[in-house]
Amino acid sequence: MAKAVDPVCGMEVDTEKAKFVVAYKGKVYYFCSQHCKKKFEANPEYYLTHGPEGMNP
Ligand SMILES: [Zn+2]
Repeated sequence: MAKAVDPVCGMEVDTEKAKFVVAYKGKVYYFCSQHCKKKFEANPEYYLTHGPEGMNP
């Protein structure tokens, strides 16, 4: 079972079951939810630079 880390919240996502996937600059990112996917799409560079926010508001 392959896992990836959601770059927005830091959760582990099962890549085989992931429904929320974004390809960005030749890489594929997996998200736990539509919410995280939308946040990434709105500002991908922020999450790629800063990493997951975790539970912080
Ligand atoms: Zn998430």
